[in-house]
Amino acid sequence: LEATTFNKPQLQEQLSVLEQRQEAQIALAGRSNVGKSSLVNALARRKQLAKISATPGKTRSINFYRVAPDGFSLVDLPGYGYAKCSQEERKSWAKLIEYYLTNTPTLKALALLLDCRIPPQALDRDLADFARGHGIPLLPVLTKADKCTQVERSKRQQEWSRLLNGIMPLPVSSKDMRGVDALWSELRRFAGT
Ligand code: GDP
Repeated sequence: LEATTFNKPQLQEQLSVLEQRQEAQIALAGRSNVGKSSLVNALARRKQLAKISATPGKTRSINFYRVAPDGFSLVDLPGYGYAKCSQEERKSWAKLIEYYLTNTPTLKALALLLDCRIPPQALDRDLADFARGHGIPLLPVLTKADKCTQVERSKRQQEWSRLLNGIMPLPVSSKDMRGVDALWSELRRFAGT
């Protein structure tokens, strides 16, 4: 990883602080526009979330949020698959994510955010496969559930469950807040708090 595309020392420092504290981390990832920032805000409406740091890059950054009462961190990974991204930017995204996912011993799960209106995409499946290959538990989440009919939602759940060996994604909406409490329960369960 070149320092020009992403500030690696800062990320390394952040990861080593959390590792020393043995603090559990759960990463959030998804295609750009999947609703990740909205979901972080929705989660924060139900619980105290403190943004502790960001590792700036030219176009992307990793944000760490400490869940104050439970003592674990949510790690907001940069969105992927943005149509206007150059090949080089895609590569630097992949390197950054792979670096994070393979250098975080206290990582307890990867929450994979999936738009409930969009059928499974290659980039999402690649990330799921990468996580599985590295023994990282997956927590699939269907975002924007308010925009889907019941039929569409269960279709997506079935499709993903087939691809993820029976793991059923959790529907959430940052707009009407459905599923947000259930998501907090899952996050706590994975974090072990
Ligand atoms: P990010 O790129 O993944 O961080 O996505 P954003 O959180 O910025 O959301 C992208 C767009 O989807 C914005 O226009 C949001 O208002 C919209 N959006 C996000 N979450 C929801 C949701 O749960 N329901 C609805 N209806 N729209 C949403």
